[in-house]
Order: sequence, then C-alpha cells, then structure tokens
Amino acid sequence: MKLTADLHAHTKYSDAHCTVDAQAARAKEIGLSAFALTEHGYTQLVMGLRRKVMPRYLREIGEAEKKYGVKILIGIEENILGREGTGGLKESDFALFDIYLAGIHVMSAHESWRDWWNGWRGYLSYNLGLHLKGQIVKDQTKAYINTVKKNPVDMLTHINFQCFADSLEVAKCCADYGTYLEISGKKTHFTDDELCDIVQKTDARFLVNSDAHSPKRLGDIALAKEQIMRVGVPLDRIDNIDGRMPVLRLAEYKKRNL
Ligand SMILES: [Zn+2]
Ligand SMILES: [Zn+2]
Repeated sequence: MKLTADLHAHTKYSDAHCTVDAQAARAKEIGLSAFALTEHGYTQLVMGLRRKVMPRYLREIGEAEKKYGVKILIGIEENILGREGTGGLKESDFALFDIYLAGIHVMSAHESWRDWWNGWRGYLSYNLGLHLKGQIVKDQTKAYINTVKKNPVDMLTHINFQCFADSLEVAKCCADYGTYLEISGKKTHFTDDELCDIVQKTDARFLVNSDAHSPKRLGDIALAKEQIMRVGVPLDRIDNIDGRMPVLRLAEYKKRNL
C-alpha cells in the first residue's frame, strides 16, 4: 500500500509551524509526486487561512512546485458549520482551489448557538472519553449530511473525531454524492465496528492521508494502515494509493458551472 498523493497537510498559513517550502522539500525527499496543502478554512476563527494572504500563499506554492518538481494541490480544510449545511467556501472562492475538505472543528463560525454548543460539547465529551447519544448525534449527522449535499466537498476529514455523528448515515450520503471519507494517519477516529459497518453497508470510498502539521509527518499513514489492516478495509476502496488518484467533486463542479 503506497501513497500516491497525501491530500491533507498544513503549514504556518494555518496551525502548523512549517513553511510551504519545507513541506514541498519533504514531499520530494519521500518520493511523493503530488500532495495537497489544506489549511484550516476561512471560517476557522482563530487559526484559519485568511483571504488577504492568498496572493502570497499561492506565489509560495508556485515557487515550491518549480523548485522541487512536486505537484501541489491547493486545498482547504473548511468547517462543518451546522445543521443547515452552510459551506465554509463561497462559490466565488472555488476558482482558487483544487480540493475542498470539510471537518468538524471548534472555534469555527457556526451557524447558530446550538451548533456552536454541539461543537464544544462534542469536543469536551470526546476528550473525556464519553460517548454521547441522542439529540447531538442527530444534529451532527444532519450537519455532515447537509454539508455534503449542498457543497462540492471532496472529502470529510477525520469523521467522528471529537464529535458524535452516525457514521453509517454520513457514509451513505458520501457514497451518493461522491464525497470521500478520510482514514487519518494522525488520529484514530472511527471505532473499528463503525468502520466495518461503513465498509460493508455503503459504497463510500476512502482517502488515506497524514494530516501532517510538520514536514516529518508528511506522508506518514502508519496509523491509518494499522486500522485498515485491523478492520480489513479492501484496498481497492481507497483512491489515493497504489497509483490511483481520486475523482474530485470540486473539479467536476467547476467544469460544469464556472
Ligand atoms: Zn481537522
Ligand atoms: Zn487538518
């Protein structure tokens, strides 16, 4: 199982400390022909990418691509903002990006106080080892599903890390809309049983990524590999390994609409 492209990584333009150049240098060193930089989104209130830095950011990406001969996809890890499925990116932002990720994170510009509170409640409970049931599961499932339905999101990042959605329902929706589910190399976020259920009962497809916040972690999918082997996810369900690259919804959307 060899990574074709690592499609989830950060730099100092969001919450990592490293530069674009350092990530590209590492990609070359480990033999990746492509990777994506996916900073936390514009709707991340504390450490997100800012629109005003985009010209400089894109220039640095262009320079690093040339210097190291590595393709860098320009991505973003936007936020799931609430039950209505408001996307973090506006249609007018789409032209700048190659890949659109979305995940649940606290300190985002949530749609409502209830969505904001669900975020914090999920975050705190998860970190205390609690497993929440009831209304929060309905709310967070709805937030994932409506975001997938209403926005050309390419991949949901680390589903159910610090939150409590119904993974099976979310996976069914992802299968219907062509949005990938991530198996993260950074943190274990499915329970094995949930992952088994998803694999067995839906046609959802997967991407495996590092979520690297430093060059030394770029391309590191060891944790994900362990989970994939443990659970028995068929490797042909993962679209960014062994020479395969995913079909991206955002790119398809742009071809049709922009
Ligand atoms: Zn994330
Ligand atoms: Zn991330």
